[in-house]
Amino acid sequence: MVRLLKRFARCESPTDSKPAVDHFGRMVAEEWRTRGAKIEYLPQKREGNHLRITWPADRARWVGISARAGQILVLGHLDTVYSLGTIKKMPFRVRQGRAFGPGVFDMKGGLVIALFAVDALAHAGWRPRRQIVFLWTSDEETASKSSREVIEQEARRSAAVLVLEPAGGPRGQLKTRRKGTGTAELLITGRAAHAGLDPGAGVNAVHELALQAARLMRLNNPRRGITVNPTIAQGGTRSNVIPAEARLTIDLRAETVADMRRIERKLKMLRPILPGARVALEGGFSRPPLERRASAALFSQASKLAEQLGFSVGESLAGGGSDGNFTAALGVPTLDGLGAVGEGAHSPDEQVILSALPQRAALLAALLVTL
Ligand SMILES: [Zn+2]
Repeated sequence: MVRLLKRFARCESPTDSKPAVDHFGRMVAEEWRTRGAKIEYLPQKREGNHLRITWPADRARWVGISARAGQILVLGHLDTVYSLGTIKKMPFRVRQGRAFGPGVFDMKGGLVIALFAVDALAHAGWRPRRQIVFLWTSDEETASKSSREVIEQEARRSAAVLVLEPAGGPRGQLKTRRKGTGTAELLITGRAAHAGLDPGAGVNAVHELALQAARLMRLNNPRRGITVNPTIAQGGTRSNVIPAEARLTIDLRAETVADMRRIERKLKMLRPILPGARVALEGGFSRPPLERRASAALFSQASKLAEQLGFSVGESLAGGGSDGNFTAALGVPTLDGLGAVGEGAHSPDEQVILSALPQRAALLAALLVTL
């Protein structure tokens, strides 16, 4: 597993480089081909190609009378947040039972786990009762614009969705809840004027921005898991001109669909505060929340299987979204955080705990064969 993880980490695949992601995709596809899987590339113009892997390829030969309707969808992504050349600054290395390198945790470790889960089933001669589709997408780290449709299409055909995103915390908790997330832009228009000669003729867009930011902060409700945070403020042109334009970027998160809708309604109702100012809102939530009711049954099955395998898994809430948010919103049972155990996702210290890799592969194999 470590050898494969090393090869995967060294083959850099930042979301914004289609050639790099495609190159990595071919490397991953080759691994599946040697395991007798059926590979389909879903070609994309700007993003990397998505990879759809069906295993076992020959369903008739594998699945007998116990076959169950509805496939199992396993979700993962090929892209990472690390730009090309990062591998020189943070080379793949193993130290004290941990592997470090760009993307080892989020989520090349998960891709390795999937391959070894399938190996385990093949060696044991265990036949899954459902068709299994592994969908490795290319743009998860930039909100899955090109992959959302195919993810939802596959999910509708699925009895369950297993997401190989990193586990929660170094104890390997599964993610049974995820906040819905999004970004909104507030575009503010005022009126320019000379700050010294005729300040009264102006409408100060930066002043309006500040008032709006203060008002937006009141939408926060940490107890309910609602966070609304102005994160980028831009405005003004010259030090002696009343600014005519300003722009505020707002990070949005909510734990339930009902709260997401409530925040969306409140954002739509935003009105200018200063006389003469105008405001327009763009964007909003891009991923709905993954609520626990979508994951509860799968989680209890997974924790029983883990116990039989000799370890335990807890559960946790993730403040960030994943592609599991899309599938859960469709009402398809979804369990997330089944990937590698480690810490430091998206940081220069990204790392995975090696002893957990075989455990996670065993847990995934057990889920694939019992669902
Ligand atoms: Zn990820």
